[in-house]
Amino acid sequence: MILTGSELRKKFLQFFASKEHLVLPSASLIPQDDPSLLLIGAGMAPFKPFFTGKMKPPSERISTCQKCIRTGDIENVGRTARHHTFFEMLGNFSFGNYFKKEAIAWAWEFLTEEIKLPKDKLWITIHTSDDEAFDIWRNEIGIYAEKIIRLEDNFWEIGPGPCGPCSEIHFDLGEARGCGKPDCQVGCSCDRYLEIWNLVFTQFDRDEAGNYTPLAKKNIDTGAGLERIASVLQGKPSNFETDLLFPIIEHTMKVAGVSYGTSAKTDVSLKVIADHARSVTVMIADGVLPSNEGRGYVLRRVLRRAVRHGRLMGIERPFLADIVDVVADIFADVYSDLNEKKAFIKKVIQQEEERFHTTLAQGIELLNAHVNDMKQRNDILLDGATAFKLYDTFGFPWELTFEILEENGMQLDKAAFDEAMKEQRERARSARQERDDKIIIPDLSALVTQRVTYNPAAETAKILVLLQ
Ligand code: ATP
Ligand code: MG
Ligand code: MG
Ligand code: MG
Repeated sequence: MILTGSELRKKFLQFFASKEHLVLPSASLIPQDDPSLLLIGAGMAPFKPFFTGKMKPPSERISTCQKCIRTGDIENVGRTARHHTFFEMLGNFSFGNYFKKEAIAWAWEFLTEEIKLPKDKLWITIHTSDDEAFDIWRNEIGIYAEKIIRLEDNFWEIGPGPCGPCSEIHFDLGEARGCGKPDCQVGCSCDRYLEIWNLVFTQFDRDEAGNYTPLAKKNIDTGAGLERIASVLQGKPSNFETDLLFPIIEHTMKVAGVSYGTSAKTDVSLKVIADHARSVTVMIADGVLPSNEGRGYVLRRVLRRAVRHGRLMGIERPFLADIVDVVADIFADVYSDLNEKKAFIKKVIQQEEERFHTTLAQGIELLNAHVNDMKQRNDILLDGATAFKLYDTFGFPWELTFEILEENGMQLDKAAFDEAMKEQRERARSARQERDDKIIIPDLSALVTQRVTYNPAAETAKILVLLQ
């Protein structure tokens, strides 16, 4: 069955609505009342108070398609077929209502009957200890025992609190997509077995001492990657070729004057830009603004990385703001706020891009001066302190320092640079702890100058009014 990303999203939510779930819109990427979290990274994250019992949910069965940011996956973007910094997680949740049996049966029904994935391509993982899940998969669903793999890692917990085993559903993309290693099987990090859905069975409460007590009211938390299932349904080699991302690649191809599929290096850059453009657009729409700390720093880092990849393909002028139109079109039927906030989003991106280009020009000039100096001294090792100053004081990306030195047959005193970097990270961490829920809005200083207590919705509304 071939479905567009939008159709798949709708089908999933309609399916769970038919199983009496309350369908809620995606929550903002900015966590509400949760200082432990910088950005929402999973469908369950906005529902934490319902899982811990701190708040009563509006329904014991909820289903969503949640916007997620996972910067931890940033290095994987474009290198694996399946990782994004921004993606959408489809999910169904039970707060003390149904449990394992229904969660497994419905996931299977959706995949094999609603969207008609071939059963023989699906593999299951469960936790080593979870005989209950094994019995359901084996006896009620009828999966061969050899296709139910027990893994030690299939246990979900973050410190003390509700936790439990999980069961993942993987799609076998075929031997040709595998790493070819003799021990390649489900769970291997290569591209053969695509993890599409994770079913978490929150059945224990873990105390501070590490004791697990069964919960009186057990919960279900599931998460399925929209882009990953779309890639399977659309028969594409990666998420990036689906209609959820490819229009951005096509647009960027024109801007850069390159084609997709001709060079591995260029493909990575096109994929990184497609991914990062979605992240940046949605983060700004949800009220994140570039800054040097917290979520604003995540945004700045992702945006600058996209610019860097543009430069790798020879794009030397600001180009990201124009991509917002393409992103808003892709999400027109689900995140219509992108269209409404387009002018604002573009302005923020444009300003940040221009600022970064100035930084780059300045940094290149400074570094070239050092390089010339070193040439005269017959020196080929740039000291760590100078490189770190370029990075820390001038905001010059350290990867560029490496590259430019390399082009000149030179090197960097990496140990000294790493040491300075480590010290800076420690400083930043303690600063972040102190100011976690405050942001500064330096880039829009012409519009908003005061330091504000963080309230994204109010901030965005205020800035939109100012821009009118
Ligand atoms: P992987 O092992 O592939 O990194 P994961 O186990 O970290 O995935 P979960 O935390 O279980 O992922 O998230 C639930 C689902 O969300 C996954 O099964 C997958 O379909 C999707 N997903 C997770 N991370 C990403 C990502 N970075 N980009 C796109 N989809 C993702
Ligand atoms: Mg992961
Ligand atoms: Mg996984
Ligand atoms: Mg998983």
